[in-house]
Amino acid sequence: MIIQIKPQLPETQRSRIVGRVKLLGYHSTPVRTQHGEYLICIGKAEIDIRQIGSLPGVADVHRVSDQFKLVSGKWKLGYSAVSLGEGVTIGGDEIALMAGPCSIESEEQVERIADHLQKHQIKIMRGGVFKPRSSPYAFRGLGLDGMKFFYEACRKRGIRIVTEVMQASQIEELYPYVDLFQVGARNTQNFNLLDALGKCAKPVLLKRGISGTIEELLYSAEYVFSAGNEAIVLCERGIRTFETAYRNTFDVNAIQVLKDKTHLPVIADPSHGVGIRDYVAGIALAAVAAGADGVIYEVHPSPEEALSDGQQTLNFQESAALINKIRHLKSVL
Ligand code: PEP
Ligand code: MN
Repeated sequence: MIIQIKPQLPETQRSRIVGRVKLLGYHSTPVRTQHGEYLICIGKAEIDIRQIGSLPGVADVHRVSDQFKLVSGKWKLGYSAVSLGEGVTIGGDEIALMAGPCSIESEEQVERIADHLQKHQIKIMRGGVFKPRSSPYAFRGLGLDGMKFFYEACRKRGIRIVTEVMQASQIEELYPYVDLFQVGARNTQNFNLLDALGKCAKPVLLKRGISGTIEELLYSAEYVFSAGNEAIVLCERGIRTFETAYRNTFDVNAIQVLKDKTHLPVIADPSHGVGIRDYVAGIALAAVAAGADGVIYEVHPSPEEALSDGQQTLNFQESAALINKIRHLKSVL
């Protein structure tokens, strides 16, 4: 059960509500986000929710049978949209496109990609400066130095930035440059990181874990929401299966299931989802057809020379073709 509390409620009234909930056999956890105050109540008793709804200070009360509560779609009419500022949103009628290199490599690389995005009216650029790599000897990103020129290139073109944050201690240094904090697949269940992002005032892009279930992804989102941050975007990026013909198995089912289970926007990452350049466009279109609110993919001026994930990265020509196809498909849908 989710109880929505009226704004600026005096402490005495809040404790009265908590007391009543306890009497009815429910354990409650208070949650305060940038948009409101809630009491999340867990319990087994069958109750008439009007007993709660009629209490002074209660704005609304919702019965939510899912174990994840605030991210469940069962208590909200319609879907949430996440704003990145400057009129850029994820969720809603328009498809949100995000593209950029796997890793930020040089000023020249960033400028050329930002030009490409601007030319095609793409409003969000991706690019990692802290890279989680399977091998410690692989390129691990340029860090804050890269972030600075990434930021300059995007700001002067009105492009918003999504980049990966790998640990809580990086939030503060990245904060001035980032519009959307990406939590990578290797960190989906890093609960300390999720808690810390929950306390921060910028939106979070939460990727599905490498072997993570849909339910685990929703629990991870619940961590961020319940720590105070409602601005969450979920991302299907492929999971590890027995199949070896490609890097990951993009789970198109997850798009439909997530759109049913949660009110949060859901996007697709076909680049990591399949891991092979020639298949990226087809998987991206499948995700859009399945109802994805956006697509994030990797693009580079010369993918063969990319310092990471070149094998799944599109060149400008392939990227332009994909953008046209996605927009066309969306208009048909
Ligand atoms: C990435 O976006 O480059 C990345 C490392 O993604 P994931 O966490 O999905 O592997
Ligand atoms: Mn990558």
